[in-house]
Parts: sequence; C-alpha cells; structure tokens
Amino acid sequence: NTRIVLASRPEGRVKPGNFRIEEAAIPTPRDGEVLLKILYLSLDPYMRGRMDDAKSYAAPVAIDAVMEGGTVAEVIESRHPGYKNGDFVLSHSGWQSYAISDGGGLRKLDPEVAPLSTAVGILGMPGFTAYTGLLTIGQPKPGETVVVAAASGPVGSTVGQIARLKGARAIGIAGGPEKCAFIRDELGFDAAIDHHSPDFSEQLKLACPDGIDVYFENVGGAVWDAVFPLLNTFARIPVCGLIAQYDGLDTSGKDRLPHLMRDVLKKSLLIRGFIQREFVDQRPAFTEDMGKWLQSGEVKYREDIVEGLANAPEAFMGLLQGHNFGKLVIHVTD
Ligand code: NDP
Repeated sequence: NTRIVLASRPEGRVKPGNFRIEEAAIPTPRDGEVLLKILYLSLDPYMRGRMDDAKSYAAPVAIDAVMEGGTVAEVIESRHPGYKNGDFVLSHSGWQSYAISDGGGLRKLDPEVAPLSTAVGILGMPGFTAYTGLLTIGQPKPGETVVVAAASGPVGSTVGQIARLKGARAIGIAGGPEKCAFIRDELGFDAAIDHHSPDFSEQLKLACPDGIDVYFENVGGAVWDAVFPLLNTFARIPVCGLIAQYDGLDTSGKDRLPHLMRDVLKKSLLIRGFIQREFVDQRPAFTEDMGKWLQSGEVKYREDIVEGLANAPEAFMGLLQGHNFGKLVIHVTD
C-alpha cells in the first residue's frame, strides 16, 4: 500500500519536504468492512488548510498521518453486507492506494451513468459547491452581471455556466490566455479576463459596464481589489474560497476592512461565507439539475488528470499556483 503522509507543516508555501511517501502492507478487512482499491484521488485547494495546525471548520491532518482527500474506489474484498466485490464507491480514503472502510460515508457509483472521475468533480463536491453557493446566496437574475475567478477550475467554470443558464452575464477571471479562451469559447462565458495582465483591473471594469451584481469569491487578494469598486448596490457575494491567501503569500499589507465595512453599509452588500456541506439538503435537486444539464450539453466540464499517486504532491503544489487546467484528479490505478 503506497501512502503519502504529512511529514511536516508548511511554513509559507508548501514544499516537497512537507510530504513523505511510504510503503505499508495492504490492510485486511474484518467483519463489516470492505477493502478498497483507490482508482482516483481528488486534489482540492482545501487540503492546504488541513496541513496547518490552525482552528478551522475541520480538524488538521496529524503529522505522519495520511493526507486527507476524496477518492473513487473499487471494492475488492467485501465483508460488509451492503457491498460486493466490484462495486464502485465514492469514499474519503485520502492519498493512498488501498483503504479499509466500514461503509460509513461511502456512496455507490454507477459507471454507466457518468465517468467515475466526475464523482469528485462536476457531479461531486466542486459542482455542488458552485450550484449551492451561486443559487442560494448569489441568486443571479436575468440581465445581471456575475463575476467569478479561478474560472477554468471545477467550481468557477460551473458557476459561470449556471449563471448563464439563469439568464445572467458571466464574466470569468482566469490565469493566462489559454484558460481565458477556454472559458469564453468552449464554456460560453460572456467575457474572460486574465488576472496576470498588467491592466487587469481596467479590463474587468470594461467587461462590467453595468457593475457587478454577484461576485462569487474564490480567490481574494488582488482580484478582490479589482472587483470591490465595481460592486453594485445590493450585490451578493458568496464567499467560497480565498486561494490567494492559502499559501501564506498575501504580503500586500493592505487593511481592506474600513473600505469594506463602509461599502457593506452604503451599498447594502450581502457577504456570506459557506461550506458546501451546509447545503446537504439540496443534494437531490443538484443531482437532478446537473444530470440534466450535462446530458443536454448546457454544462461542460474539463478534467486535468495526472498519472500516479507519487505525483500527487507536485500536482497539489501546482494547483495552488494555477498550474492545473480543469478539475485536478490523480489517476491512481485502473
Ligand atoms: P481550481 O481547480 O480552480 O484551482 C484553483 C485555481 O485558483 C488555480 O488553478 C488558479 O487558477 C487560481 N488561483 C490560485 N492562486 C490565485 C491567485 N493568487 N489569484 C487568482 N487566482 C488564483 O480550484 P477549485 O475549483 O477546486 O476551487 C476554487 C475555490 O473554491 C478555492 O478557493 C476553494 O478553496 C474553494 N472551495 C470552497 C468550497 C466550500 O465549501 N466553501 C468547496 C470547494 C472549493 P488561475 O490560473 O485561473 O488563476
């Protein structure tokens, strides 16, 4: 069993030495358990938070423990009445090639319905995050302007496409011309702005002549600074993520709070953070709507699949710097 464990807590940027790769015996299931062979491992920005020993909405990964993560797995030895060998499941088994489960938290997957990897992407946690955050908090109306960054990733790309399905204009912010072309030409965003451009703020302003009604916050930092002056009265801001801050790199030293509070008051802004699992009661609606949109081609998705568990640390460090192009997934084995 190959396992990747947290060797040390990062100081600032994550480094290869924060991870350690280990070999261990393949575990044996007891009565009531299944042995899982991991096929796909999802890599997600939240994992950066789990590497720190800071109070958050979830406990940190302990030093020397296997890195946490969502996985798609095959049951290869079942001693559990609810599962048989050959079943495919969504599990939370982490960065390893085999795992034991007592069935808690497993969800069966049907490979005939959708490619298995989508269970950690468009049909899984990131797709659900976009759907619930945008529709519950953002509430885009026809003709309104919705802005989202990290717009070629699984959350942002879905936010923009759903915004358009609701009749809003979708403006995506992404890193580099290739990602911008993709969201505009393949996904149908109304405009795409490269946040690496020297005149990024100016371009964003030109793309939003009527201001911004919904800003789906994935990033923070310099992107927020460009968005903030363009917010309209009664704008809604679902705060989903702040990836620019995860790796400890916001050295601008800016105090944004006085301006923010002034405008919250003056413009009646609604700013609400959320963690997707708060909206668990919306799962059936999400599954139905997203299934329909995928089938009709109204929503498209892109995956960035990296071969081999040993490449997970490097791929994860790249994710925090925008090297991924689409939902980042490790293909562990067939
Ligand atoms: P992505 O696959 O989109 O990867 C993150 C992307 O963020 C990178 O590819 C990069 O894209 C962009 N990025 C990184 N640093 C910066 C920066 N300094 N400025 C601007 N963009 C940056 O990730 P996800 O779609 O999985 O996640 C998007 C956000 O949603 C994250 O903040 C994540 O934490 C959050 N999230 C929150 C959840 C919740 O329940 N609240 C659940 C799931 C995700 P580019 O090259 O385009 O800049």
